[in-house]
Formats: sequence, C-alpha cells, structure tokens
Amino acid sequence: MTVASRFWRLLSPSLCISSPSPPAARNVFNRSIFSISRSPTLITTSFIRIPRTRRSIHQPTPVYDTTVPSICPSCSKPLLSSVPACTKCWTIFSLPGDLSYHHLLGLPYEPNPFVVDIPTLKKHFREAQSVCHPDSWVSKGNDKQQVAEALSARVNHAYQTLLNPLSRAEYILGHNHLPMSESDQVDDMEFMADIMEAREIIEDTEDIDEVTRMMEDTDSRMKQTVKEIESLVEKHSWSELKAAAIRLRYLEGIERAAKQWLDNH
Ligand SMILES: [Zn+2]
Repeated sequence: MTVASRFWRLLSPSLCISSPSPPAARNVFNRSIFSISRSPTLITTSFIRIPRTRRSIHQPTPVYDTTVPSICPSCSKPLLSSVPACTKCWTIFSLPGDLSYHHLLGLPYEPNPFVVDIPTLKKHFREAQSVCHPDSWVSKGNDKQQVAEALSARVNHAYQTLLNPLSRAEYILGHNHLPMSESDQVDDMEFMADIMEAREIIEDTEDIDEVTRMMEDTDSRMKQTVKEIESLVEKHSWSELKAAAIRLRYLEGIERAAKQWLDNH
C-alpha cells in the first residue's frame, strides 16, 4: 500500500464529503507529498486533518497548496478556484481552521503579507464564491451544504479583511501575537492634536472647502501611513506596525466623518 493510499483510507468522513475514486485520489496526494519535499514552507497549511489517534510521525501530512492550480481528488478535473470545491463531481472539502486568509484566497503570504494585489484578490474571491456559494449546494445534501456555508463565510471574511489596508494590518498583527484592541491609544501628541482639530472642524464648520481640504490632507496622510505599514511589515517591526495601524484607524475615522459631513451638506 502506498503512503498516498493510506492517506485516502484515513480521511475523516466529516472533512471529505464525496464518493472518491481511489486512483484519482492517489494521484493528487502523490503530487501533494511531492510538493512537500520540494517546498517545505507549505507544510504549515495542511489540507486534511488526520485523526490524532491514528496519525503517525512517519506519515507526512498532505498539503493543499492554494497558490497553484490544483485538481479535484475525486474526478481529477482542474479545480476552478483556490478552495477545494468541485462543481464537476460535486465534491467539497473542509480546510484547516488555521489556514491563512492569503492561502485561502490563493495569494502568497511571503515575503510581505501586507502587499496584496487587489485585482488578483477580487478575481480569486469571485472564483472561490462561484464554487462554494451555499445556494449551489442546496440539492447536494446537508453535509455538503454545511461545508459550503462554512467555506463561503470564511472566503467572505478573508476577502473583506485583505481588501482593506487597516484590517489587513490588524490581521498581520494578530498573526504575530500583537492584536489590536479598541482601547489602543497613540503616544504621538502632535498627531492626536491634529486629529482633535480635524474633529472640531467637522463639528463646527459650515465651509465645504475647509472640509474638502481637510479630507484631501487626511487622504494623503493615510496613503503615507499605508506605505509606512508596508515597510514595517517587511522589517517585521511589529510594535511600530501596531502604532502605525492605530494612527491609520484614527485617520479612517476622520475620513469617514468628513465624507458623512459632505453627504449632509
Ligand atoms: Zn471533481
């Protein structure tokens, strides 16, 4: 019995909702194991959880590499997105809970997880949603529909998180054990004075030009802060990154308030 066929026998039914064809499964797992030996960094994203009681230290964990096109373990047709859902043979898999949002959407986490190509993110999001949207799995049984719902919700959350620079920075901070909280403050008194002044303008002024100028200034400071965040992630300067992300949160608040003011005037 090959290592790959042993993996297939050990799959948990709750994680692999299909009627797989063993030879096709063997092909994809052989390929996965091959990719482990050539790309050790991928080991962090295990595709299938083998029950702990039956796991052996001699068995490598199969890896689902979401950054390259893969094939369906059941029908061997190419998967149409970064998530393991096949609408050719209606097979769908769960993914490990610790899989990064980047890998979930087929994007690289290294070398800099803050650098996300937005058109690619949007394209991969659309592709993933098109295969795991729960409506498509309604007639395929409760188990499959539940897996689709969970996958679809994760894909949505991952997309929203990576789309916005602030939530992306927060996500990276969380990954590096420095999560942000609502009570986080900025030590930079000059910056805080600017924020208070901007708030006063929004509350007191009736001058559209003044608010427009302030919004342009805020926008420019946000772009500058985003660049700074990119560089801090590159350098793994997590404490400074957190300070910059908190400043970005204040600036986003001002921009939101200014937009609201302009909508109302
Ligand atoms: Zn298939």
